[in-house]
Amino acid sequence: MSPDLLHPDYFTAGVAEADPEIAAAIGDELARQREVVELIASENIVSRAVLEVQGSVLTNKTVEGYPGARYHGGAVNVDVVERLAIARAGALFGCRFANVQPHSGSQANQAVFQALLRPGDAVLGMALTAGGHLSHGASFNISGRHFAASHYGVRRQDGRIDYDALARQARETRPKLIVAGGSSYPPAIDFFRFREIADSVGAYLLVDMAHFAGLVAGGAHPSPFPHAHVVTTTTYKSLRGARGGLILTDDEALIRRLDRAIFPGVQGSPALHAMAAKAVCLGEALKPEFRAYAAQVLANARALAATLLDAGTDVVSGGTDTPIVLIDLRRQGLKGDAASDALERAGITCNKNAVPFDTEKPAVTSGLRFGSSAATTRGFGAAEFRFVGAKIAQVLDGLARDPEANGACEAAVFAEIRELTARFPIYQGV
Ligand SMILES: *Cc1c(COP(=O)(O)O)cnc(C)c1O
Repeated sequence: MSPDLLHPDYFTAGVAEADPEIAAAIGDELARQREVVELIASENIVSRAVLEVQGSVLTNKTVEGYPGARYHGGAVNVDVVERLAIARAGALFGCRFANVQPHSGSQANQAVFQALLRPGDAVLGMALTAGGHLSHGASFNISGRHFAASHYGVRRQDGRIDYDALARQARETRPKLIVAGGSSYPPAIDFFRFREIADSVGAYLLVDMAHFAGLVAGGAHPSPFPHAHVVTTTTYKSLRGARGGLILTDDEALIRRLDRAIFPGVQGSPALHAMAAKAVCLGEALKPEFRAYAAQVLANARALAATLLDAGTDVVSGGTDTPIVLIDLRRQGLKGDAASDALERAGITCNKNAVPFDTEKPAVTSGLRFGSSAATTRGFGAAEFRFVGAKIAQVLDGLARDPEANGACEAAVFAEIRELTARFPIYQGV
C-alpha cells in the first residue's frame, strides 16, 4: 500500500492520536457531562454498549431497501440487525410492524405525512406555541409548507388540551391526519378521545410519543396502541438509546406505505450503525430493570415539579405525567434565555422554552423546560431531584432579585452540584 495514500496508522490510531483537536473537544464534553446535572428533556445517557455500536464497522456498510430485498450486496449481517430491531420494537411497544430506518424523529414524521397524505391535504397538529413540534405542520417546516396545517392549542387556565374545542376544530378543518404529541406538553394525552375525534372526521391519528416513549416502554405511561393508526418516536430521549427515530403501526396495509415513504420516499440508505444501536437500546428496554428506570423517571419529574410548585414557581399544567416539567417565569418577571444561562452557570443544564400564550420571541421565551431522563439514568432518585429543584428555585430567586449580584449564588450552587454529581459517576474507565 502506498504510504502517500493512507497514513500508516490509519487502521490503528485512535482519535487522540489521529485528531487531537476533536479528541480534546470530546474529552471536554465527557468532563462536562460528568460534572453537570443534565435536565435537557431531549437528552439521556446511553449505555457503553450503545456507544460502542454507534462507533462500530456498521458505519462502513451501505444498503437500500429492506431485509431480503436490498439493492446492494453484502447485506447478510445488517439484515440480521434490522430484523432484530424490528422484532424488538414490536415486542416492546406491542404492535405488529415497525420501520427502524428513520434518521430522526422529524424524518419519521415526514414519512408518515408522505405515506398518508397528498400535498395540500389538511392536517391538524398541536401549535408550536402550545408545545407542539416543528414537524407537525409548522409554517416554516416542510410539513407546513406542503400541507394545509391547522393547529390546536391548550386552555389558558390549566395549559391542557380542550378536547371539545379540538373536536369542533376537526369538524371545521376536516383534516386527513390528526397529530397528537408535543415537545413541551407535560400532561398525559387522552389517546382514546383523540381517536374518537379522528374517526368522527375520517382522519388518521398519528401519535408522536418522542418524549414519553421510554415511559410507555417501561409501563409507566398509557400506550398509544390500539388507538393510533401510526406511532412515531425518537429513540434517544426517555427511550435512552441511539440517535434516530421509529415508525410503528398495527396495520399491515399501512406499514407497506410507510416503508415506501421512508425508502425511497424521504430517505436513501439507513444509518446502519445507528440502527444497530436502536436494536441494542430496544433490547435494554425489554429487560426488567427498564421498568424500574421508567417508573423512576416519572417519580423524579413529579418530585421536581412538586418542589418547584412548593417554592412558588408557576408549573405549567400543575405537574406532569411525562418526563417533562415546564415552568412559566412571567410571575417572577424573568425571561427564559437569561434564566437558562444563569442555571448553566450553576451547573444545571436545561433549555429556554415558550410557554402557552408566550409573547416573547422564540430566542427569548418566558419559560424553562426540564426533563428527568438523563439524571435518572445516572442514578438520581426523588431526594436528589428535590435538592436540584430547590437549587433551581434559589438561582432563579436570586436572578429575579438582582441579576448583577447573582454570580456568587450561581458559583455556590455549582460547587454543591459538583459534589452531587461526583457521587453519581458516569462512564468510569472511559
Ligand atoms: C424531539 C421530537 C421530535 C424529533 O426530533 P429530531 O430532532 O428530528 O430527532 C419529533 N417530535 C417530537 C414531539 C419531539 O419532541
